[in-house]
Amino acid sequence: MLDSSLQATLDTVLARNPGEPEFHQAVREVFDSLAVVQKRHPEYNDAAILTRLCEPERQIIFRVPWVDDKGQVQVNRGFRVEFNSALGPYKGGLRFRGNVNLGIVKFLGFEQIFKNSLTGLPIGGGKGGSDFDPAGKSDGEVMRFCQSFMTELHRHIGEHTDVPAGDIGVGAREIGYLFGQYKRLTNRYEAGVLTGKGLTWGGSLVRTEATGYGAALFAQEMLGARGTSIEGRKAIVSGSGNVAIYAIEKVHQLGGTAITASDSSGYVVDEDGIDLELLKQIKEVERGRISEYADRRGGKARFVKDGSVWDVPGDIALPCATQNELNARDAKTLLENGVAAVSEGANMPSTPDAVELFREAGIAFGPGKAANAGGVATSALEMQQNASRDTWSFEYTEQRLTEIMRNIHQNTLETAEEFGRPGDYVLGANVAGFRKVANAMIAFGV
Ligand code: GLU
Repeated sequence: MLDSSLQATLDTVLARNPGEPEFHQAVREVFDSLAVVQKRHPEYNDAAILTRLCEPERQIIFRVPWVDDKGQVQVNRGFRVEFNSALGPYKGGLRFRGNVNLGIVKFLGFEQIFKNSLTGLPIGGGKGGSDFDPAGKSDGEVMRFCQSFMTELHRHIGEHTDVPAGDIGVGAREIGYLFGQYKRLTNRYEAGVLTGKGLTWGGSLVRTEATGYGAALFAQEMLGARGTSIEGRKAIVSGSGNVAIYAIEKVHQLGGTAITASDSSGYVVDEDGIDLELLKQIKEVERGRISEYADRRGGKARFVKDGSVWDVPGDIALPCATQNELNARDAKTLLENGVAAVSEGANMPSTPDAVELFREAGIAFGPGKAANAGGVATSALEMQQNASRDTWSFEYTEQRLTEIMRNIHQNTLETAEEFGRPGDYVLGANVAGFRKVANAMIAFGV
């Protein structure tokens, strides 16, 4: 229950942002956790920190015209929400997907503030994207779209201002076209303006793997705190993009078996463990559908068109697809099947009632802003390498990522305990992420 002043602040924020259900969902969850902090720290209330935090510092919406392969002019909408720069330049990905709208970009940007704070690295929070969907487009169309997108975006970003990266629909190909256009427009080789770059032109080793690796490492840490581990256990993974692929890889490295992957057409179950070479070939090289995985696995895997991947029994769940992909019904099924840990590789993949069920059941639940922070943390390591004109080895970069995930786990666990909710990583992540940002904002004055 929120007290009356917190409730009034929440009501104002929600009323000010109508028609943005995902943003409302993300804000509500943070407010629920922060009730305990407001009681102990009236200074946050006096400085209206929450009201300020929920209002982005800047929101940019722009037209993105481009010409398709038939010579037709197409128009998409571009967004960049520069949410909070208390801890560093705005940092966060770009999402290119048909359903992207301002509310979705704002929920992602809001989450990013706390996530980036938890990494312990000097990065603020932002997010952007477009309702352009790269699926089914030719390379030429994607290039022309990216060039047009950057023609507007370039005046708002910079290595000390705002540093975009990838998210759903934006991988190495898109970052390449975006960086190429930025370089032409500015006549500067400013590598630190974007992260997720290719390895020969300023990218960092481990960045591709980082989000998925981090989510599996976070699961390992949570299980470790309960005296157990991933070894010998079955993991259910959703998604088949960058996050899912490398979550599966890390589960296998840690001695577990990830047996599922999915996309919008359905899911596959492979009891021997997902064959990563095949999955990478289909998804990263051919940009194909997940059903092809089962077709090419010679009877070892089955494809399920309808239904939920969460119906498959396993010990660990790693939702790595998209927001609200795991609902209360799925949570019940997972709990009935004895799930021990849920670590969110995607942003806000569990609905609020699903999260509530996990928390009530007392299983290890790692919210996205802690569990998937490894991606943006490694982006910050990419920025460090760009600033020092250096490149680090895979081993060193992975060691830094592993340490960062351990620290996030420790910090969220200790914060939950400090506020009388041992084992509650949701509360721990929201409070620990918030405090650092709030203290910086207070230091800066109004
Ligand atoms: N899109 C990723 C996220 O949700 C990474 C952002 C970045 O590397 O800046 O955290």
